Amino acid sequence: MNPAPPLRAITFDLDDTLWEIGPVIRAAEARMEGYLRRHFPAMAQRLPAGEVRRRMNALAAQRPELAHHVTALRMTVLREAAHAAGDPPQAAELAFGTFIAARNAVTPFTDAAQVLRALGARFALASITNGNVDLAATGLADLFRIRVSAESAGMAKPHPAIFHLTCEALGVAPEETLHIGDDPECDVAGARAAGLRTIWFNRPGHRWPGPGQVPIHVRQLSDLLERLLPGGPNS
Ligand SMILES: [Mg+2]
Repeated sequence: MNPAPPLRAITFDLDDTLWEIGPVIRAAEARMEGYLRRHFPAMAQRLPAGEVRRRMNALAAQRPELAHHVTALRMTVLREAAHAAGDPPQAAELAFGTFIAARNAVTPFTDAAQVLRALGARFALASITNGNVDLAATGLADLFRIRVSAESAGMAKPHPAIFHLTCEALGVAPEETLHIGDDPECDVAGARAAGLRTIWFNRPGHRWPGPGQVPIHVRQLSDLLERLLPGGPNS
């Protein structure tokens, strides 16, 4: 077997890898629901807490061609609710606006910028997300050479093609690339199947649920520096 080629690029998942997302989404949903109750009460009545998410999941199952596009899913649910309530279509746009502004208000982990800067000095960095965060709003956008989303790619992780098109955009081969993310299926299994190396970002300290062998994992981003930069154990 040939030795592994040198590592040239690193791709990062975003949500729950560079910041915690659960509380941000819950706050954004609550803000949107509050906005609807105040301005479009008939529409709000059709969308009790959690209903938008339930309908998005149902829609993704019914219409696989939309499943990778969380913005389209949410907008479709909101437009249908506005229509059913007799509210103007703009109600959906305005409600989405309140959601996405709060959704973009993520707080990167305290070591995120420093770690990305240090790794970016040695490797080509890209982000790959299934979500719809506006990276420019996070202050981290400039630290990535390439920014890929499921919405821009037309397919979501764990599809191997989203990893391959990112590698191609970076000008590297999959086996010269390491993907880091929190989701065992989307990030670790997906990147493995695409031929990338992987590190599981396991901040909560979960047991590896499978499939496949237990991956290398780190519990904080700064642990990556030791592993990946000169002087570290893997250099
Ligand atoms: Mg994630």
